Amino acid sequence: MIKKFFSCLILLSLFLTSGCSKEEKDNDLLTQIKDRGRLIVGVKYDSRPFGYVDENGRLKGFDIDLAHMIARQLLGNEKKVSFKQVNQHNRISKLNSGEVDMIIATMSITPQRESVVAFSVPYYITGQSLLVRKTSPIRAIGELNEKKVITILNTTGERTLRYFAPEAIVHGYRNYQDGIQAMKERKADAMTADEAILVGLALENPEFKVLPQKFTNEAYAIAFRKGPESDNLRNDVDTILLQMRKKGELNHLKHKWIPSSYDNKRKMKQILNKTPKYKDKFSE
Ligand code: GLU
Repeated sequence: MIKKFFSCLILLSLFLTSGCSKEEKDNDLLTQIKDRGRLIVGVKYDSRPFGYVDENGRLKGFDIDLAHMIARQLLGNEKKVSFKQVNQHNRISKLNSGEVDMIIATMSITPQRESVVAFSVPYYITGQSLLVRKTSPIRAIGELNEKKVITILNTTGERTLRYFAPEAIVHGYRNYQDGIQAMKERKADAMTADEAILVGLALENPEFKVLPQKFTNEAYAIAFRKGPESDNLRNDVDTILLQMRKKGELNHLKHKWIPSSYDNKRKMKQILNKTPKYKDKFSE
């Protein structure tokens, strides 16, 4: 009788354990992605040179290339990726509602964000800088007090500007296009944002320059939903990113998309020449 009881107990525990692991497997995001054969990634459509729509309506940029490379590693084909547009206001909710598997969208790691999403290892290092008119006397963040400065709401720039230039008159805009438009209309003296994004804006608007000094250090990383269902996916993506870093592939992407020096005219010209819209805007 006791023997029978114990064998029943063993059978029951085997049933329960296998039940749990099946459920875990069903919830596992990496398994779901492999079953559906497609990765769904949230990217920016307005943040040249990371995620933007080019003159022919094609989605391009550093973050887009990176998503294709991750799809190639995870699913054996770089085309097996679908993109959904996100911005700095909705990217975390689109991730947490399950609309996308991951976010690759110029997103800096911050302690506040770490409490609501899980980040990969960093894939790009940048920092906040300033965009000013080429004729502007402003040389550094310390000269912004009492000046009108544009920042983009819900970005790290909004927070750091208030810290580094507490006396600046802050004008918050919802997106980069509205911000740069306000600069063009001379509604402000400077605009703050990630250097890499400001360089993209200055390339499109040659009346502006980006100051060389960065006043913060920020790391872009891929964001995942928090929780055990994302763990396998995040571990695999971390391994892919670390291998890409080791093989120099991340560096290659950086050289492809971001001129090493904004004032390096040769590189700038190469980039502009590839996009017909800018060809005639840039002559020596
Ligand atoms: N990297 C900054 C951030 O994560 C700004 C970039 C963006 O607008 O997404 O807040």
